[in-house]
Amino acid sequence: MLVVIRAKGSYLLELLILGTIMIKLRHLLLASACLSTPLISQAYELIGPTWPSGDVTFHTSVSGSSPSGVSWNTAMQEAANKWASSVNGLQVSFDNSSAHPCAGILPEYPEDGNKNSFGFFNKACNEDFGENVIAVTFSWNIGSNYTESDIVFNTAENWNVYDGNQRSSLDFRRVAVHEFGHLIGLDHESSNSAIMAPLIGNIYNPTSDDLNGARSMYDASSSSGGSSSSSGGSTSSSGGSTSSSSTSSSGGSTSSSSSSSSGGGSSSSGSSSSGGGSSSSGSSSSSGSSSGGNSLPPLRMTIEEPSNGQLVSGVTNIRGWAIATTGITRVELLIDGRLISRIPYGSARGDVANAYPQYPQADDSGYSMIINWGLLTPGSHTVTARSYDNAGNIESSSATVTVQSFDNAFVRNPEDVVIRGGAVVNGRTITLGDVRVDGVAYEVILNWSTATQKWDIQQIRRQ
Ligand SMILES: [Zn+2]
Repeated sequence: MLVVIRAKGSYLLELLILGTIMIKLRHLLLASACLSTPLISQAYELIGPTWPSGDVTFHTSVSGSSPSGVSWNTAMQEAANKWASSVNGLQVSFDNSSAHPCAGILPEYPEDGNKNSFGFFNKACNEDFGENVIAVTFSWNIGSNYTESDIVFNTAENWNVYDGNQRSSLDFRRVAVHEFGHLIGLDHESSNSAIMAPLIGNIYNPTSDDLNGARSMYDASSSSGGSSSSSGGSTSSSGGSTSSSSTSSSGGSTSSSSSSSSGGGSSSSGSSSSGGGSSSSGSSSSSGSSSGGNSLPPLRMTIEEPSNGQLVSGVTNIRGWAIATTGITRVELLIDGRLISRIPYGSARGDVANAYPQYPQADDSGYSMIINWGLLTPGSHTVTARSYDNAGNIESSSATVTVQSFDNAFVRNPEDVVIRGGAVVNGRTITLGDVRVDGVAYEVILNWSTATQKWDIQQIRRQ
């Protein structure tokens, strides 16, 4: 992502989706502090994953040209070649077949088979561009290997193509160089002079620090020493979790497979409308090519939580596992047939590996994310997890749940929850007579649940 400063003290919003994790970072720009060059020079930053064998195929099929006459496709290819021509072991080839960068993210653009592409769009696919955000790169990975990366440029900007100092219009090509840097695995670099700086500036080529970072990933002959300190490059941990940029502030919400922002289900906020979409109720469907005569199903998956028929409320997990003979590329969450988000994939599942030892990566085949059911309308909803593998197979698994919720999806202040009425206990059921949440009166019925081994909210009745 690259940002243009329009006002001092403005915020920038980073959106990084990395297969096994969704990170949303909010950085505070210290626009006036100038970040005087620190005495200890920090080197490039690495996101973690890389492209297998250093091979990237990029689809350039955007029509039109910039006001200066350079076509968008040419500018994009030139930007990519600024990396490839200076980094041994990194090969970029181009393909002009059509592709949409939001394919598979937005339902109106069906999955295109992991094509890496770019385009102009008025949103960062399913999210608004943050204020001052001019481009966003989405990346997916399996373990340490990238599987897809797409770049979306904000149509709201005034784009052109030129070298040299910044003008009033934005230079598309230098932004493309920056975003392609993310695509190959570089994170933001704020200390050294770098095209990977989070803010657009007068730099329009990769600097030596940028190229050292790229070489550290792809050039087997490059030593880790070099002029920049090797310790500066931060790499992500292996277990599917990904390190965030060192500049992330605590204000940002970081959701991993086991944690989420306090708001709960931050990535499912788009689901708060009443369930309009058609329900893909079939509990399991598959399509795509099969692996032929092999009796081993190419793709197996299941959703374990929520379970079918479950009453759900509050903030809980959606989880399950998915395995494929060719490897899983991603898992998506759909609610009432509408695509909501990708589900972080790659958590440890030794039990699955024991049951299905024939499948690669079964050891790390878990998926999970946190959802705030309060964002959904009370009543019945279909929750679907949908998995894709490298052979183009798609499999899904669904559960129909009944959502119980208070009017307010997330009550921040515990003092806003008061039980004033007595409890009536009957068998395994507890009825709380007068519960006030944010000043609204409810009757809440708790029921013992064998599945969750606790008293679950069975019903919330407004009074
Ligand atoms: Zn960036």
